[in-house]
Amino acid sequence: PIFRNAQFEISIAKPSGLPPPSGAEIAFAGRSNAGKSSAINTLAGHVRLAYVSKTPGRTQLINFFRLNSGALLVDLPGYGYAAVPEKVRRDWQGLIEHYLKHRESLAGLVLIMDSRHPLTPLDRTMIDWFVPSGRPMHVLLTKSDKLSRGAATATLQDVRRQLAPLGPQVTVQLFSSLKKTGVEEAEHVIAGWLGL
Ligand code: GDP
Repeated sequence: PIFRNAQFEISIAKPSGLPPPSGAEIAFAGRSNAGKSSAINTLAGHVRLAYVSKTPGRTQLINFFRLNSGALLVDLPGYGYAAVPEKVRRDWQGLIEHYLKHRESLAGLVLIMDSRHPLTPLDRTMIDWFVPSGRPMHVLLTKSDKLSRGAATATLQDVRRQLAPLGPQVTVQLFSSLKKTGVEEAEHVIAGWLGL
C-alpha cells in the first residue's frame, strides 16, 4: 500500500494554522459519506488510519499524515453534510477553498465521489477551485461494487466525458474499498505525482 506506515501529524482548523510546506502533499476531498475514509484506509492498508479524521471535533479540520517517503497525505473535511449550522459550513468550505487554491506544496488532489451520485454541485465547486492551479486531479468513483458491471462502466464513461473539457490533468477510475477494486490503478497515479 502506497500509504503504509502513515503517521498522524497535525490537525488544523483555519488557514493560518497551516504548517510550513515540508514535502509534497496529496489531498483527499469528497462529500461526507462518499467513502473517503474507507478509500484512505484501503490505500494505507490500515483499517483505522482515517478514523482519526472522524472523531468528534475533527471532522471539520484538515488532518495531515506523514508518509515514509516524507510526503504528506492530507485529509480534507467532508463537505455537503446538511445537519450543520450555516456558519460552520461556510468556515469549513472557506478552509478547503483556501487550501485547494493556494497550497504550494499540493502535488495532486484525489476527489472521492460515490459512483451512484457523481458530480454533485459541491463536487463541481471543488473542481472549480482546484483545476485552475494546473495540478493533476484523480477522481475515484467509489462503492463501484454497488453497481452492476455495465452500470459501473457507463458511469465511468459518462464522468470521463463530462470532465474531458478540463484536459488530461483530470483522470477518473472506478474504486471499491469493499472489494479492493482499483487499488493498483490509484496507487500508480499517486506514485506518479510523488515521483516514486
Ligand atoms: P466518508 O464520510 O467519505 O469518509 O465515508 P466512509 O468511508 O466513512 O464511508 C461511508 C459509508 O459507505 C460507510 O458505511 C462505509 O462502510 C461505506 N463504504 C465506503 N466505501 C465503500 C465501498 O467501496 N463499498 C461499499 N459497499 N460500501 C462502502
